[in-house]
Amino acid sequence: MAEIRIENLHRRFGDFVAVRDSNLTVRNGDFFVLLGPSGCGKTTTLRMIAGLEIPTSGRILLDGEDVTFLRASKRDIAFVFQLFALYPHMNVGQNLAFPLKSEGVARAEIRKQVAEVARLLRIEHLLKSPVGRLAGGDRQRVALGRAIIRRPKAFLMDEPLGTLDAEFRDLMREELRQLHDRIGATTVYVTHDQIEAMSMADQIAVMDKGEILQAGPPNEVYQRPATMFVAGFIGSPAMNFLPISGPVAAGAQTVAVNGANVSIPKLHEPLAHDRGVLGARPEHLELADAAAFRGRVFGVEYLGARQLVTVDSSAGRIKVRAANTGRAKVGDTVGIEFRSEALVLFDGRTERALA
Ligand code: ATP
Repeated sequence: MAEIRIENLHRRFGDFVAVRDSNLTVRNGDFFVLLGPSGCGKTTTLRMIAGLEIPTSGRILLDGEDVTFLRASKRDIAFVFQLFALYPHMNVGQNLAFPLKSEGVARAEIRKQVAEVARLLRIEHLLKSPVGRLAGGDRQRVALGRAIIRRPKAFLMDEPLGTLDAEFRDLMREELRQLHDRIGATTVYVTHDQIEAMSMADQIAVMDKGEILQAGPPNEVYQRPATMFVAGFIGSPAMNFLPISGPVAAGAQTVAVNGANVSIPKLHEPLAHDRGVLGARPEHLELADAAAFRGRVFGVEYLGARQLVTVDSSAGRIKVRAANTGRAKVGDTVGIEFRSEALVLFDGRTERALA
């Protein structure tokens, strides 16, 4: 078990900054997800934690001990590259035993560990089976077992589910998360898939262009995004961004969106210039005949209990996750009501959320 801290971590490749002044604390036992688009520096961060990449500057602490320059093999951290490669000519037990055998662990100890991991993963009855005959889910369990059998202090996983098809990915997501809950080892997990991140993480850090923009529990990152990038990257369909005209004084509780007054959570800091952006998620909007903010229906998708209505307004195209009562039709003029307490106001120049 381990706490991982990175302090002012920085990695340059020539002139290119892959990771910029990053700070993070991964608490003991957390399932921590690094989330961001391709090329944002997730893998480089993970490789530095593993000891496979030396930082240009900054420190990495493992349980308070500075391991920045410690060799990878001395860190007792498992880097899970490819979760799903098994040795086809070996049976389940042999596959599980392999990592211990190659480290020269005594036979009796190997037997004990294999039995324990098999019990943990509920595959005891399969220990003698050739891996080629296993059903998909069991194969993945064996692969997981092989990754955890050395009982490292922490796991680092780089898009381990990336190559699976959608159905399997859902299954493995659950399996991995449950396994984490059972063994409780600190895990840092890299993905560009926000749904994966939201569904698995205790904590998420959102990265872009080498920088950590925000870290926190999934619901906090979703509900209180620190920047427009975070707000747009998490959530599907994405948050609506509506331009508003400033300035807006500290203490204000309404903003004007194309002539309509919209209530917002009380602002503590002012917007000093004229470029503001109101962020509203589709589920924070509702169709309402009497609402002052109006637009014309561009498209309607039925989602069962809700409908996703796309509305063209003078403030741009907006998606509304509306109730299914009274169906909107393409071409209708509709009013849109804002769920005020959930709205976020951004500074349109810095793209940061105003407090
Ligand atoms: P992906 O999901 O595509 O792997 P990522 O977020 O994991 O993306 P990194 O692999 O950390 O991103 O790479 C960040 C940036 O650093 C990329 O632009 C990459 O091209 C660059 N980079 C990574 N390793 C090196 C290297 N050894 N030499 C030069 N540039 C590198």
